[in-house]
Amino acid sequence: MDQIIFLGTANAIPAIGRENTHLLIRHNQESILVDCASNPIVHLQRGGVNPEQINHLILTHFHPDHVSGAPLFLMDLWLLGRKRPLFIYGLEHTLSRLQAMMELYDWRTWPGFFPLEYRVIPEVEKAKVLTLDGLEIVASPVKHLLPTIGIRISFNHSQKVAAYSSDTEPCEEVVRLAKDADVLIHEAAGRSIGHTSSRQAGEVAQKAGVKRLYLIHYPANLTKDELIQDARTAFEGEVFVCEDFMGIDLTEE
Ligand SMILES: [Zn+2]
Repeated sequence: MDQIIFLGTANAIPAIGRENTHLLIRHNQESILVDCASNPIVHLQRGGVNPEQINHLILTHFHPDHVSGAPLFLMDLWLLGRKRPLFIYGLEHTLSRLQAMMELYDWRTWPGFFPLEYRVIPEVEKAKVLTLDGLEIVASPVKHLLPTIGIRISFNHSQKVAAYSSDTEPCEEVVRLAKDADVLIHEAAGRSIGHTSSRQAGEVAQKAGVKRLYLIHYPANLTKDELIQDARTAFEGEVFVCEDFMGIDLTEE
């Protein structure tokens, strides 16, 4: 099974039925969480995923709408009886702040807390994040208001590739990261410093030569039709608007 599930799709302001953007990569028995908004436990359960199956957490950047759920998520895993390590991947900027946040919660006094294995991702293009049997994830720095990564996920058995921009303005790093991918998941928070409009996301998708564009992290006041039409003015491929719990199946047909 090669799948991406959207656990949240909102920009920084969530709404009823739309949680802050975070997603899940599923590959056979492995489930990899990308960002940790709100408390992912409930959304994982609603998405049919046992939270205890998560062994890997990738954090794209240290903004509250992407990381603020991490301490409660970790606490809940501990209370659920987790013993085995959790691997957490991110830039030095992100991981050092996550560690400081955990110190504020005095997590060292939580008896029998499971090991946290931090893996610092170097701030270079296509840096290796993790490799599992049949799955490879690399990261590139993108252009947001603070150090941020986008990721490229290669499912080796199905030969499918997906890229996720995270929060960024349009940039060549994402074009290269998404080059010839089957799927580009791009933020569409709107044209501003550190962000991208749906039309600009379409331009990035067109330059990268991807097959399908999925718009995410978009404001609640825009309709799906507006977002899609805007992206289509620049992109010839298919455009979709992500909704919470929607999935993309990248398993071999
Ligand atoms: Zn954000």
